[in-house]
Amino acid sequence: MVIDVRNTYETRIGTFRGAVDPSTTAFREFPSWVDHQFQLVKMESHQSDSTADNISELKETQIQEPKRLPRVAMYCTGGIRCEKASSFLLSKGFKEVRWKLNSDHFKGLVYHLEGGILKYLEEVPRAESLWDGECFVFDKRVSVEHGLVQGTYKLCYGCKQPVSDADMEAPEWEHGVSCPHCFSMKSDEEKERARARQRQFQAWGIIGGPDKGRRDPAKSSSKQ
Ligand SMILES: [Zn+2]
Repeated sequence: MVIDVRNTYETRIGTFRGAVDPSTTAFREFPSWVDHQFQLVKMESHQSDSTADNISELKETQIQEPKRLPRVAMYCTGGIRCEKASSFLLSKGFKEVRWKLNSDHFKGLVYHLEGGILKYLEEVPRAESLWDGECFVFDKRVSVEHGLVQGTYKLCYGCKQPVSDADMEAPEWEHGVSCPHCFSMKSDEEKERARARQRQFQAWGIIGGPDKGRRDPAKSSSKQ
């Protein structure tokens, strides 16, 4: 089982083929998803026939015992959320195995994609890749593709989620205010506040703008 540890606004623009999407809207929902997901596995009880005198059958049962928890591979954007997810699963009795890049990605006893999707996209060429779509990143690029080339998504400043060109054609799209993904979740009051903020941003350039607090990359690199 391969689990995408990221949230829905990330998984909807790209995932590894065949991965399970827990459909979380925030990482804090992940532990309860795990509890729910693997409780079902826990309830599977072994039919132990006490009258069985077949030793090989008994042995088989014993060998199968540790398989109660399935093999799980996890990945996230840069590997950090997997560290948290890993320690949670370890606390639930899972055994840790590092998931090495360029090994048999989805078949081995695997646990955690080191360096995350970003390292994978950087190193694995598109032709050999199991990745579909784009990877949402928390910087100005919004999304990246293979080779870490900037992707096609833009950001909705209303919800900080990625939007496609098609999203921006939708009637729910209003620059700086809402997109099809957040339109129905925002009250008229919130939209009005966002419009005011957007007007302020257009007038002053910086206040509350999307680039607030961003470092000048030229400056910070020259210091080092
Ligand atoms: Zn939005």
